[in-house]
Amino acid sequence: MDKNMMNKKRINTILLGAFCSVAVLAPTTSYAKDKPKLSQSTYDIESKVVEWRRHIHENPELSNREFETAKYITKHLKSLGLEIQTEVAHTGVIAILKGAKPGPVVALRADMDALPVKERTPVSFASKVMAEYNGEQVPVMHACGHDTHVAILMGVAEVLTGMQNELAGTVKFIFQPAEEGSPVGEEGGAELMVKEGVLENPKVDVVFGLHISSGMDVGTIGVKPEGIMAGVDDMKITIKGKQSHGSTPWNSVDPIVTSAQIINGLQTVVSRHMHLTNSPAVVTIGSIHSGVRSNIIPEKLEMLGTVRTFSQADKEKTRKLITEKAELIGKSMNAKVEVQIPYSSNYPVTFNNVALTQQMLPTLESVVEKVNIIKPITGAEDFSFFAKEVPGLYFFLGGKPKDTPASEAAAHHTPDFFIDESGMKYGVEALTQLTLDYMKLQQK
Ligand SMILES: [Zn+2]
Ligand SMILES: [Zn+2]
Repeated sequence: MDKNMMNKKRINTILLGAFCSVAVLAPTTSYAKDKPKLSQSTYDIESKVVEWRRHIHENPELSNREFETAKYITKHLKSLGLEIQTEVAHTGVIAILKGAKPGPVVALRADMDALPVKERTPVSFASKVMAEYNGEQVPVMHACGHDTHVAILMGVAEVLTGMQNELAGTVKFIFQPAEEGSPVGEEGGAELMVKEGVLENPKVDVVFGLHISSGMDVGTIGVKPEGIMAGVDDMKITIKGKQSHGSTPWNSVDPIVTSAQIINGLQTVVSRHMHLTNSPAVVTIGSIHSGVRSNIIPEKLEMLGTVRTFSQADKEKTRKLITEKAELIGKSMNAKVEVQIPYSSNYPVTFNNVALTQQMLPTLESVVEKVNIIKPITGAEDFSFFAKEVPGLYFFLGGKPKDTPASEAAAHHTPDFFIDESGMKYGVEALTQLTLDYMKLQQK
């Protein structure tokens, strides 16, 4: 998930105390009494999931460089006797579990990559890893919780393999690299996996995925039908004018003044054209470059921005409006304006199939105390590339310690990002039950 995730405030010192007490929970603790809703197999696997998560957390790897993580996953999947494919979309791992009975193909996805963030949590398994990122040495941390996703899916693989005789269908486990974005000049992530045919052979009927949340209570799930996370277009607007001395602007075509008018014009794309009670949209200019000194009106200006929408129709509408407004404003100033949208990034909306969400909601409700229907999130997720091809369901899983107010939980992508590991067992149960219940529903 990208930068816009849930909470903003950094953790305070009181919370650091709470972290320590959570961190000393031994993996062998008996959990069986606290949640009678969960199956025994989930409780049996929980200590292993915690152990795997800690190993991966302590050994984080950046996008498209998840070599050791892939080996760790592969070793486990091999021990279960599953059919395995490695080096998919660089470092991805796919495993196939064929049930004893025929039925649909259910894909379960976990992302594997970490981030260039320096860890500041007091846990004993905190990362000290450094790695190269775009030519620089940087600290690396699982600051988005993808370590928990990998461990949860390894656990689900073990539980479902133990139920092979009862399974009416096939499970495809997708361990996906580079959700956070590939290094400059490289392809990767879900988009490349789809390109390489991950959803074929056997053909996937449905895909489920989750994201842990540092801001949601353990034992809760957040979900919504339709767009749950935004589609992204980034854009580049180039304005070409005519250079002149700053003292004689009548001899220029000023790209800086033109850009000011374009930026103002773009503010009306959302506020005056989008049907805001239907779904939200965002247009942001985040970078602007032109000129070298005070008394030269430059020839050229470049702006970069991002657009967030929640349907394909809105995506197309914003593309058209931004292009038209920028070009027409440019024309009125005699400047030549070129709009590239999308420019380098084009993520679909993470879309939860409506019928599938309705069908599977009782399953999620059977796993946790509370399923919250959440508001759309303007961050983006590359799970969207899978859910664009086949019906998908993506949800958030609570990972916030109970005694931490949501407003004080450290946000994703920050040095203090912390997950209460007791939330992971609900993830194991949710993905397991979604698989079993979906297969059962297809038998009817
Ligand atoms: Zn993230
Ligand atoms: Zn994430």
